[in-house]
Amino acid sequence: MSKTTRKPLVAGNWKMNKMVGESVDLAAALKPLVAGIDGADIVVCPVYTALYAVGEVLKGSNVELGAQNCYVKESGAYTGEISPQMLLDAGCQWTIIGHSERREYFGESDAFLNEKLTFALGAGLKVMFCIGETLEEREGGTMNEVLTRQVVEGLKGLQEGDFASVAIAYEPVWAIGTGVVATPEQAQEAHAFIRSLVQENFGEVVASALRIQYGGSAKPGNAGELISQPDVDGFLVGGAALKADSFADIVKAVV
Ligand code: PEP
Repeated sequence: MSKTTRKPLVAGNWKMNKMVGESVDLAAALKPLVAGIDGADIVVCPVYTALYAVGEVLKGSNVELGAQNCYVKESGAYTGEISPQMLLDAGCQWTIIGHSERREYFGESDAFLNEKLTFALGAGLKVMFCIGETLEEREGGTMNEVLTRQVVEGLKGLQEGDFASVAIAYEPVWAIGTGVVATPEQAQEAHAFIRSLVQENFGEVVASALRIQYGGSAKPGNAGELISQPDVDGFLVGGAALKADSFADIVKAVV
């Protein structure tokens, strides 16, 4: 499968931003700006408290709903956590798993993220699974080793059929929220490496169909060049997803 048969995936990670009313307003503003675009899958990931309300706004539109995280149990005494089943119940089709902020601030390990990924897929959610190296790792020459560990341990046990519901987001940590975007060459090199790892571990069919998003200071001004790379299949967008017009412009840049 070549790039042309992989439908671009553009998702907005709103992180811990926006009250319910603001989230609803943002979704309502986004909807008409991307209406009729069917050349990309479009997803927004608000905070938990806004999921249901945003889902109601997005009903019948071409924008899907995602969460930013989830836990590995369906229900029970797990204070503060939320299950994939609850996310589906609130209207989500997607969740992000393994964002670098979860890895860094909440100590989420590759093994735990693998458990989350497996559980979320089993529940019926689609997953954007985030990986990426820090600046220290890149400069210290261990980037490929880190990406290999994150792919091999993070995706462990997945079957070919699972990959229809998985996208990988390559998000170099040094580019997230910094305004320092990876160059198209840096992004392509990493994406191609990730695809080769997936090929080694899960085969050519899975690797060639897998969507690999780029994340890290993606903006309307740099999205065109990045998406023109053969292994860049969309974006996971943080800051630029908090404004309807800039997120819509990134969507338009990929189609
Ligand atoms: C992110 O957090 O997923 C992200 C890519 O953020 P930003 O676009 O703000 O760098």
